[in-house]
Amino acid sequence: MRIVTSAAAMQCLALRWRRTGTRVGFVPTMGYLHDGHLSLVSRARRLVGKRGIVVASIYVNPTQFAPTEDLSAYPRDLDRDKALCRKAGVDVLFLPSDTEMYPGRDAGGYSTYVVEEKLSQGMEGGARPTHFRGVTTVVAKLFNLVLPDVAVLGAKDWQQAAILRRMVRDLNFPLKLVVAPTLREKDGLAMSSRNKYLSTEERSQATILYRALKLAKEVVLSSRAPNYADVLKKELAALIATQPAARLDYVEFFDGETLQPTTSVTRDTHMALAVFIGKTRLIDNAELR
Ligand code: AMP
Repeated sequence: MRIVTSAAAMQCLALRWRRTGTRVGFVPTMGYLHDGHLSLVSRARRLVGKRGIVVASIYVNPTQFAPTEDLSAYPRDLDRDKALCRKAGVDVLFLPSDTEMYPGRDAGGYSTYVVEEKLSQGMEGGARPTHFRGVTTVVAKLFNLVLPDVAVLGAKDWQQAAILRRMVRDLNFPLKLVVAPTLREKDGLAMSSRNKYLSTEERSQATILYRALKLAKEVVLSSRAPNYADVLKKELAALIATQPAARLDYVEFFDGETLQPTTSVTRDTHMALAVFIGKTRLIDNAELR
């Protein structure tokens, strides 16, 4: 496995692959890898084949964190991540520094951002107003450096995947986006680097996100008529309130593609929620079928 830290070197390699017609699959991450991330690497390998190149990146992108958020505390373990990537069959691990990604930013010398204006308004965008501007900007930059044929994203971050799909379409990035399913722990908790923050007691209460998704599914599957979103939201808020460490940030019902909120909930509806467990903010989502 080759490790690349310079943006120029990454782009140089990518241009060479392009000239030789080598297919490139790309998995962008913020590191502290778990099986969810590694499932994206396997998917990328299947998509590009044995002769293709799989690139993973680890970069904790400062522009997607608000000043009040957990940028400096974000979990990191680069040695472990490198070993996991090697074992998972990553060919090139791209590990840029902040100065490689945003040269001159601290001195005001970086001033170009990519902004998606519609899908990024609600849910995570409502709770974290500058978050998606950071995500679209860094992913656009990574796409320009890695020049992938296909990039693999997780359904765990459903809104993010929808926004990036829109960005790829709107800005004509010549690549395909694939969204792979959410990997879960045995008790249903979606795997996440942030799960590391949870104490033992919080970890057991954190299953409430999955239980809320399950309850919504049960209600929808057992009713003939559509359910009122407001009624269901109240029911879910009450369920979440049964866990002393849990504080609901939002729960939303919406169209899985347009992300348009809906007042009437059916099997085709998508649900997403964000819940603080102690100080840790967790998100999850699912289609209700
Ligand atoms: P992150 O490192 O959290 O920025 O995530 C990097 C990529 O991994 C994103 O495309 C996420 O959606 C995806 N991902 C995170 N958690 C999971 C999971 N439990 N299952 C599948 N993909 C995931």
